[in-house]
Amino acid sequence: MRLQVLGTAAGGGVPQWNCACPGCTGARADPGRRRRHASLAVLREDGCVVVNATPDIADQIADCAWLAPDRGIAPRVVLTDAELDHTIGLLRLREAATLEIFCTPEVRQALRPFAAILRPYTSVAWHDLDDAIPLSDKRPRYARHDPPAPGWVSAVRLREGGRSVVYAPAMGLWSPLIEDADCVIVDGTFWDDEEPRRTGISTKTATEMGHLPIEATMKRLARLPGRCLYTHLNNTNPLVDPDAVQHEVLAELGLEVATDGMVIEL
Ligand SMILES: [Zn+2]
Repeated sequence: MRLQVLGTAAGGGVPQWNCACPGCTGARADPGRRRRHASLAVLREDGCVVVNATPDIADQIADCAWLAPDRGIAPRVVLTDAELDHTIGLLRLREAATLEIFCTPEVRQALRPFAAILRPYTSVAWHDLDDAIPLSDKRPRYARHDPPAPGWVSAVRLREGGRSVVYAPAMGLWSPLIEDADCVIVDGTFWDDEEPRRTGISTKTATEMGHLPIEATMKRLARLPGRCLYTHLNNTNPLVDPDAVQHEVLAELGLEVATDGMVIEL
């Protein structure tokens, strides 16, 4: 099993189109600091899976050699949740002959409008996500009238030949079920719980927004046997600055920050 990280940013990306914060300004000045929306490609013998369909999906596929059109490998799409930054890319895939989408019943229900829009363009096959680990009952804002349920936000576990990866770009609570994976790629949206309030992007804490902050998860991650990386960085996260001291804090714990394009062999 091979993994390619297709993007590592939270909603809006880095830089976000309408944001002039230090993280976004730095990324405009230095293309090496840009981060596309968080997504992961997983290559197995049975084909290629793309986890989450971001607004950047066409560019992300273009930068993934496994998915070059002349290789004839159509990606299957796995969704960890129904948030717009993880699903809006489904609409960009409307040229597909067929589209295979794997998600929980809650996410499928929320995406009814997408299904209706795509129907005249492509044949969509919806499948239940077998190896989902429920992490949060937080619904997207646009689906706030749908009922709460544990399947709104999941970690996805993918396996091959006794090896496994767990991918959880939004982690509202810790699950022991993620702990034994050979590679764990998890929510690094915010460094600390007050970050969203301090930076003025929200009146809620990180935890209240459905994202355990890195400060709350790093010591637990450091004890896990597998390789552990953070992804889904918000533009307010100090880690978007490559010189930030927080990178050293994580390195001392043996933890990594995922970068766009990185390939992981499992
Ligand atoms: Zn910004």
